[in-house]
Amino acid sequence: MPAIIDGKAISAQIKDEVKERVSALKAEGTEVCLAVIQVGNDPASTVYVGNKKKACEYCGIRSESYELAEDTSEDDLIALIDRLNADKAVNGILVQLPLPSHINEDRVIMAIDPTKDVDGFSVNSVGALCIGRKGYRSCTPAGIIELLKRSNIDITGKECVVIGRSNIVGKPMALMMLQENATVTIAHSKTKDLPSVTKRADILIVAVGKPKMIKADFVKEGAVVIDVGIHRDENNKLCGDVDFDDVAPKCSYITPVPGGVGPMTIAMLMHNCVEGA
Ligand code: NAD
Repeated sequence: MPAIIDGKAISAQIKDEVKERVSALKAEGTEVCLAVIQVGNDPASTVYVGNKKKACEYCGIRSESYELAEDTSEDDLIALIDRLNADKAVNGILVQLPLPSHINEDRVIMAIDPTKDVDGFSVNSVGALCIGRKGYRSCTPAGIIELLKRSNIDITGKECVVIGRSNIVGKPMALMMLQENATVTIAHSKTKDLPSVTKRADILIVAVGKPKMIKADFVKEGAVVIDVGIHRDENNKLCGDVDFDDVAPKCSYITPVPGGVGPMTIAMLMHNCVEGA
C-alpha cells in the first residue's frame, strides 16, 4: 500500500511556523493583517471565509472582515479595495471568489495592489512565477509543492503530468513543477487519449473537477498521485477527482480527500500573509 501524504499534519506544521514568525514580527512592533472581502452570501464561500478567519486567529494574524451585499456594485467594491490598498496597516487583501455575475472578476483582481495580492491571482504574481521571480504564489499549487517537499519526494527530472489548466490551479501548478525542474505536461479537456498521457507520470497532479474520474488504468505503477478535487459523492461523503480505493494500491504516495491538498491552501495563505508583512 502507498504512503498517505498527511496534508492535515503538514498544514498544521506550516501554520505553527507562521505563528512563530507572526509573534516575532509582533515583538518588533509589526502586526500582520489580512482583509477578507465577501460579496453576497454563497454558503460555500461563507464556510471558506470562516475557515480563513479561524486560521488567522490561530496564527495571530489580525483579520478584517468586509461582508458586502450581493448587489454591491463593481465600482463600490473597487473603491473598498483602493482604500485597503492605501491602508498601511493591511498587508494582504483577499476577495473571496466567485463574485456575483454582475461583477468582473478580472477587474477586481487587478485592482488589488500586487504587494497585497496574497492569493497570487494577479497578472503581476503570475508573471513573476512565470519568469521565476519572487512574488506571491497561488496557494493551492504552492501547498502541493510543500506537500511533495515535506514528504521528501524528489521532483527534479521527474515526469509530471498536471490534469487541468485553470488559472488558479492547473497553470500555476505546471509552472511551479517546472521551476522545481520536473518535465511537465499539461493535460486538459481537449487532450486525446488521456490515460496514455497520464501513465507517463512519475508525479500525477489531478485538478480536473470531476468526482472519482481518475481510475487505476490512468496511473503508472509506483506513481505519486496528488488529488486537488473536492466533491460530495452519491453518499454525501467527501471525495476527490481520483478514485482513491481503485488508484491507491498502484501508488507510492497518494493524497487523501479530505486531509490532503485541502488544508494546505489556507496554510499557504497564512504563509503569504506573513511574507507580505
Ligand atoms: P476548473 O473547472 O476551472 O478546471 C478543470 C480543468 O480540468 C480544466 O482546465 C479542463 O480543461 C480540465 N478538464 C475537464 N474535463 C477534463 C477531461 N475529461 N479530461 C481532461 N481534462 C479535463 O477547476 P479548478 O478550479 O482548477 O479546480 C479543479 C478541482 O480542484 C475542483 O474539484 C475544485 O473543487 C478543486 N479545488 C480544490 C482546491 C483546494 O483547496 N483543495 C482549490 C481549488 C480547486
